[in-house]
Amino acid sequence: MICENITVAENGHLKFAGQDVTELAAQYGTPLYLMDEDLIRANCRTYQQAFRKHFGDKARPLYASKANSFKRIYEIMKEEGMGIDVVSSGEIYTALQAGYDLGQAYFHSNNKTDEDIRYSMEHGIGYFVADNVEEIKAIEAEAARRGVRQKVLLRLTPGIDPHTYEAISTGKVDSKFGSAIETGQAEEITAFTLKQPHVELVGFHCHVGSQVFAEDVFERAAVIMLEFVAEMKEKHGFMAQQLDLGGGYGVRYVESDPYLDVDTKVGEVAKAIKDTCARLKIEMPEIHMEPGRSIVGAAGMTLYTVGTVKKIPGYKNYVSVDGGLPDNPRFALYHADYTCLVGNKMNEPANFPCSVVGRCCESGDIIQENVMVPESVGRGDIMAVCTTGAYNYSMASNYNRLPRPPIVMLKGGTEHYVAVRRESLADLCRNDL
Ligand SMILES: *Cc1c(COP(=O)(O)O)cnc(C)c1O
Repeated sequence: MICENITVAENGHLKFAGQDVTELAAQYGTPLYLMDEDLIRANCRTYQQAFRKHFGDKARPLYASKANSFKRIYEIMKEEGMGIDVVSSGEIYTALQAGYDLGQAYFHSNNKTDEDIRYSMEHGIGYFVADNVEEIKAIEAEAARRGVRQKVLLRLTPGIDPHTYEAISTGKVDSKFGSAIETGQAEEITAFTLKQPHVELVGFHCHVGSQVFAEDVFERAAVIMLEFVAEMKEKHGFMAQQLDLGGGYGVRYVESDPYLDVDTKVGEVAKAIKDTCARLKIEMPEIHMEPGRSIVGAAGMTLYTVGTVKKIPGYKNYVSVDGGLPDNPRFALYHADYTCLVGNKMNEPANFPCSVVGRCCESGDIIQENVMVPESVGRGDIMAVCTTGAYNYSMASNYNRLPRPPIVMLKGGTEHYVAVRRESLADLCRNDL
């Protein structure tokens, strides 16, 4: 299986985090998001241990909460001692509702509104990761108004193409994010920021992409960023305290995706960082990374009920489920891979090729193409889509006025509880006047 938390019982039922998915579907209804709380916590600990081991006590992983944002996840991050990154007042509000201390939060985004800046400072945001000069000006103005000095990192683009999907590669010079080192804009914004009386520059940030498996993307980014750190020290007398290398480690969506060992990977990045700091004769800054997908991706599974099975002889077959694009837009967005399994028929051979499609009035409403399922697949079967813990609920919509599914958390092999309730039909009209 693509992840250890997916197993099959003797009766041919799929189990997720040790629990029978057909029973969960019967109890909570479908579509249904499941989240394996134990795996989320284990992933947080894996990152924290690797960071302590390879970078020392001050280094820390921050959970990129856009991957999946709801109250319970911030409570878990608080309990696990994780920093977080947030990208909107909405994520900040949710974190505050969970009692998360915003002092440990980093506010990203390429376009923070004045209201975002005001709201987050009002609630004690720890750090801004400023994308551009305009933002520094807006932060300076708000900090001056409040009579405080606001900590800020600058987002830079190291000019790396991580050979991933175009739509989620963000470290290239022509990206909408950050200031490019290559064009001199990174130095300009650094010099500008250092002149602001109410902004305290604490370091630099970059994020080169997502679902990255390529060998040395983070090492290359780290070297470029450290060379910039050394250059700023020499030219402007500014030594960065923090260096944040962003998120992006990949997870396994399909059998052909490689395994990625976080401890090994972090160890390799740490070696490149230590070697480079020694070569440049600078102290190693506090190292941060921002895993999102690799914390929650494999901790999620979506369950659907199969409806129509349409066979077009000589062409193709369609298996329709009771959700689709509104709860998982990732195939429509960038043809993302997924593994689909018929949860109540795991002991039948998967010999029937089909496209698993949603129920929306949109041809692009596809979960996955070229899926093999048992030939007997039919109405009432449970379709499980694996690795949906990242960028599914957080990207969900109400297209076709479909209520968003609930999130049920699984724990300890037997416990389960609702963390986000299912939207009702009344919820759909709550803002309609
Ligand atoms: C999206 C994003 C992340 C998380 O990326 P993952 O691929 O989910 O690990 C981290 N940092 C920034 C700035 C991001 O935009």
